Amino acid sequence: MRAIFDARQWQHDPKHFMANGVIKPSPEQPERITRLTHGATAAGCDFVAPKDAGLGPIAALHSPEYVTFLRNIYARWQHIDGAGAEVIPNIHPASRRDNYPKSAVGQAGYHQVDTACPIGAGTWEAAYWSAQTAVTGADMLAAGERAAYALCRPPGHHAFGDLAGGFCFLNNAGIAAERLRTRGLRAAILDVDVHHGNGTQGIFYDRDDVLTVSIHADPARFYPFFWGHADERGVGRGTGYNLNLPLARGTGDDAYLKTLDIALERVANFGADVVVVALGLDAYEGDPFQGLAITTPGFGRIGAAIAGLGLPTLFVQEGGYLCKELGQNLTSVLTGFEGA
Ligand SMILES: [Zn+2]
Repeated sequence: MRAIFDARQWQHDPKHFMANGVIKPSPEQPERITRLTHGATAAGCDFVAPKDAGLGPIAALHSPEYVTFLRNIYARWQHIDGAGAEVIPNIHPASRRDNYPKSAVGQAGYHQVDTACPIGAGTWEAAYWSAQTAVTGADMLAAGERAAYALCRPPGHHAFGDLAGGFCFLNNAGIAAERLRTRGLRAAILDVDVHHGNGTQGIFYDRDDVLTVSIHADPARFYPFFWGHADERGVGRGTGYNLNLPLARGTGDDAYLKTLDIALERVANFGADVVVVALGLDAYEGDPFQGLAITTPGFGRIGAAIAGLGLPTLFVQEGGYLCKELGQNLTSVLTGFEGA
């Protein structure tokens, strides 16, 4: 299948990640690109660069003040006496209804939900091209391609309309789904990352025109904690158009695939024309996050099950962190899909 990637996505190189009170190197390393490129190429993908569709598709989901913040905050941060090399918040509003400050520190707290989305010199450029990669993938499907793989990095599914978090800045899968909708296609987002796609849920929570389904490790004891529970079904018109399928920590292939069947049945009942797969590979048994226990052949079964929908499919890269099998797991999903 066709694959999309832009070299400017290398420019985001986060240094800080805080876990359990300890500052560590970020798991969202640029090296992931090398592994994922090898994995996609081994599955027979041909890479092309994305077209530049401009800010329009990004602004369709993200607020003007948030986009301005992402574009400018790194330069503003440098004017703070003694500031560190990355924008990392140290204070947060208690609710989204609280006032919006003028201060760079205050705005960082407003727009960055956690410490896992540091903003450095190349973050905006990389996030912008990661989003364009998803948009070009959506346009390929709208033009009649059966499937495409968007190597989006940084990932996107933890980004809300005005909020970065969990290594994510722009919601690439959501941007692709909205782009498909504007092309007259009914899109469902199926999120198989080990973490709940809270940003995607938040963006579409009150809408019935894009279905959001997520299978993930139970947030009662796993990031992102505050979202991803089974009783979050949508609000207003969106009621019933968000489906969360949390799984116990350590769930393996067979139980996962049974749950995937429930997700796929919902996508089919929605009457989707196209499916956007938020493709995290961090449900892997050897992933550093250790949430679920999918095997490398299990990813092939996941790909094959998704192909069973018989729908044009855009794979949008989400998580999946440095381990020896990262590339193989991607190969497994894509070959499983194509072979089905
Ligand atoms: Zn993840």
